[in-house]
Amino acid sequence: MSSLTKKDYEAVIGLEVHAQLLTESKMFCACRADYQGATPNSEVCPVCLGMPGVLPVINERAVECVIRTGLALNSNIVEHTKFDRKNYPYPDLMKGYQISQYDKPIASGGWLSIAVDGDDRMVEINRVHLEEDVAKLFHLNDADGEAYSLLDVNRAGVALMEIVSEPSMRSPEEARQYLVKLRTILRYLKVSTANMEEGSFRCDANVSIREMGSDGLGTKVEVKNMNSFRAVFRAVQYEIERQSKVLDEGGRIIQETRGWLEEGNTTVSQRSKEFAHDYRYFPEPDLLPLVVSRKWVAAVEATMPELPDARAKRYVDRLGISQYKAEQLTLNTSSTSDYFEAAILGTNQLSNDQLENRAGTVCNLVLGDVMRLFNGIGSELDPHRLNPSHVLEVANMLESRQLSTNMASEVLNILFESPGKTPSAVVKERGLEQISDVSMIDSTVDEVIKSNSQAVEDYLRGKESAVKFLVGQVMKSTKGQANPVLATEAIQEKLKALGKR
Ligand code: ADP
Ligand code: MG
Ligand code: ZN
Repeated sequence: MSSLTKKDYEAVIGLEVHAQLLTESKMFCACRADYQGATPNSEVCPVCLGMPGVLPVINERAVECVIRTGLALNSNIVEHTKFDRKNYPYPDLMKGYQISQYDKPIASGGWLSIAVDGDDRMVEINRVHLEEDVAKLFHLNDADGEAYSLLDVNRAGVALMEIVSEPSMRSPEEARQYLVKLRTILRYLKVSTANMEEGSFRCDANVSIREMGSDGLGTKVEVKNMNSFRAVFRAVQYEIERQSKVLDEGGRIIQETRGWLEEGNTTVSQRSKEFAHDYRYFPEPDLLPLVVSRKWVAAVEATMPELPDARAKRYVDRLGISQYKAEQLTLNTSSTSDYFEAAILGTNQLSNDQLENRAGTVCNLVLGDVMRLFNGIGSELDPHRLNPSHVLEVANMLESRQLSTNMASEVLNILFESPGKTPSAVVKERGLEQISDVSMIDSTVDEVIKSNSQAVEDYLRGKESAVKFLVGQVMKSTKGQANPVLATEAIQEKLKALGKR
């Protein structure tokens, strides 16, 4: 093959995600786990400070979170599991070792489904295990430019779950979708806030490339330091391009860890991994092996919530909502679909057709006006701020043509600012009721036709757009309250009658 011919490469991506668990206390001690905003080094004790002679105690709730996650990811929940010591020296590691899980993670295997170009694809999961977070280092410079570091131990010992995928993603977009779906699932399970900006959801991306059609694995590079989904997407994209270029130029890929530089839009080498760390793993001698009884697994299984895919499918199958909108409702957090569920709660006595109509209208309001209002205050959808049953009421008014789309938006705006009010009260108060009384519309139409003879003549000469103009006049003289569909019908009817004369 000529060295000038560029080869076709395929990317191979595996992701490691660390998610902090929503437990009250830390992984092995009674310290408070919620350190966000706490005074540095205030949430600490001899155990998480790594003092000698103290003993760790396993946090039951943390194990339960991993079981929940494993079940959601179709993993096998391992009955005989244990904790291991992973030894490495680093200033943020209080004991010089991290308690983690090596060969017997709580959950093993599994898969998560993503949709790529409309097709479902399974991303295989390797394992989900439990470990403890490390302290936080701050690297600073003093007034003379001298570098120094500060250490905050509050984060040390916080329960951390690691979810490791198999190398089964093939593009930056698949990696992004995997992360979005995984974050959504963790939030539905209420096991993590899974907030990337806060550092409660962190991702390392392993990237390699290989010649298209080959099924061996190329040398991988691990990329760290991405703190948004967008950054993961761009870092993976950059790595694929960089590696392709290296191979095209006859070079070889070095197994290493690289860091993503947001400003430079590039990755830089941090350390070579060719001589892999020897973590000298061994079973944690201060903890007994952990038996996860089948009874426990069954009890956790009984409390599993409906997951985003199942919800979306139910919306499509039973409520006639489009796949796209069903995803909009269910992705990222459960709060949007929880809100939607609450809004359609009052529709159970409807026939199937009526239910589909009503659900469709409510869905459009939730994804449109309601989302817009909550986005405006940077909040998730909250039933205490805007009552979901009021949204249903507005949907009813829209369907009965009592309100136009614009008026519905206005009613929701007002309700959002004055939560005590009801839609019907707002409609009365502001005189927002749409005029659907045919005789009232008829008389307005008669007046408009009389005073716009030019437009009428235009129409009779074949200018169809004159109808639009006349409807506009009707809306104007009713201050936007005429039902536009009825007004259009009336105008067309009367113009046709004039034409026949
Ligand atoms: P390490 O021992 O370096 O941590 P692992 O085998 O534990 O490597 O894999 C870590 C992550 O790297 C996993 O998510 C895995 O899917 C991914 N991975 C492994 N080999 C490759 C490869 N050749 N290309 C891309 N990703 C890979
Ligand atoms: Mg690893
Ligand atoms: Zn502690």
